[in-house]
Amino acid sequence: MLPVWAASGTVGKVERACENCGGDDDELILVHRVYVVPESWDTPGSSTKVDEAELWCFSCRSQYPHEAVEPET
Ligand SMILES: [Zn+2]
Repeated sequence: MLPVWAASGTVGKVERACENCGGDDDELILVHRVYVVPESWDTPGSSTKVDEAELWCFSCRSQYPHEAVEPET
């Protein structure tokens, strides 16, 4: 008989580690990273949202620009 940890091992679809910093956190949520280009003398500021969603921890969400993934309903 397999121990419990082996039976339930990789079944969960969410890995409990932040995809940005690699830290584990209880409050990981899916976000789209946003790259922000600051305004300068010859170019207007802009921002680009990455299509692929990443799982981010609270600390990364407080430090880097991002957009929460809209739940599909
Ligand atoms: Zn993180």
